[in-house]
Amino acid sequence: MQYVGRFAPTPSGPLHFGSLVTALASWLDARSHQGQWLVRMEDLDPPREMPGASDRILQTLEDLGLTWDGPVVYQSQRSEAYSAALETLQNQGQAFPCSCTRKELAGLTPYPGYCRQAPRHPERPLAWRFAVNPELTAEWLDGVQGLQSWPLSQLGDVVIKRKDGFWAYQLAVTVDDLEQGVTQVVRGIDLLDSTPWQINLLNCLQPDTRPFHYSHLPVIVNASGQKLSKQNLAPAIETRNASELLYRALLALNQPVLKDWRKENPHDLLNWAVSHWQLNRVPRVAHLKEESIQACTSTD
Ligand SMILES: [Zn+2]
Repeated sequence: MQYVGRFAPTPSGPLHFGSLVTALASWLDARSHQGQWLVRMEDLDPPREMPGASDRILQTLEDLGLTWDGPVVYQSQRSEAYSAALETLQNQGQAFPCSCTRKELAGLTPYPGYCRQAPRHPERPLAWRFAVNPELTAEWLDGVQGLQSWPLSQLGDVVIKRKDGFWAYQLAVTVDDLEQGVTQVVRGIDLLDSTPWQINLLNCLQPDTRPFHYSHLPVIVNASGQKLSKQNLAPAIETRNASELLYRALLALNQPVLKDWRKENPHDLLNWAVSHWQLNRVPRVAHLKEESIQACTSTD
């Protein structure tokens, strides 16, 4: 079976070092399997987006030599496909309208199932939730984090369409991965607890599909332990230092690195990295401190 991987950034800002590590790992894993690597913009939430960020992300990937296959998919243009999937779930009795407000659900996790039979306040704006199979335990052998076992009853029914009309992440990502023929998902560990919902959704939307292979990478955190993000002012990466960036990202992923990397151009560095890529060397941890990676580069 052909390997199909993907990188799916949210265009809420330019790429920072943490998103580069994720992009590089998923690119290397795809290329070392002679696989395809797709790029999808998860632009479902216009208020959170930064104008021009999608183009800037694509330019950065191109500057680094992380080439992708086929056209870039934009989730903002995929509403029809998500509607069709919601209809499928509705027909199966696996989606229900929910009137609960954030305030009513404060402190209640998982979702307590208030509207499972009928919305408690049908006159209010309604979200749609996916009725998970509470008997199901999602199990998979994660390529980085090892054996995972997650009872769906502990996660609860997840929102798949928001009450403001926007599509929610769990549905969109599942529909797109299915339609794009994705086989391997390599992404940050912050999405580990989304995987059980996506496995359950996949089973409902396409019962005969082969399960994907998942690998969840450690996320890069700053000195105070926060995930690098636009919110905590992680700097955008500067591609004029492409070789150094790639070198640092390879160190973060615990990959073998060339001693004379400074003499290499990014293209040759990537080729070398593809032929030496070992997913099982990626540290099986949740967080990596960015400063510890920088410290390594300054000592050689
Ligand atoms: Zn509800």
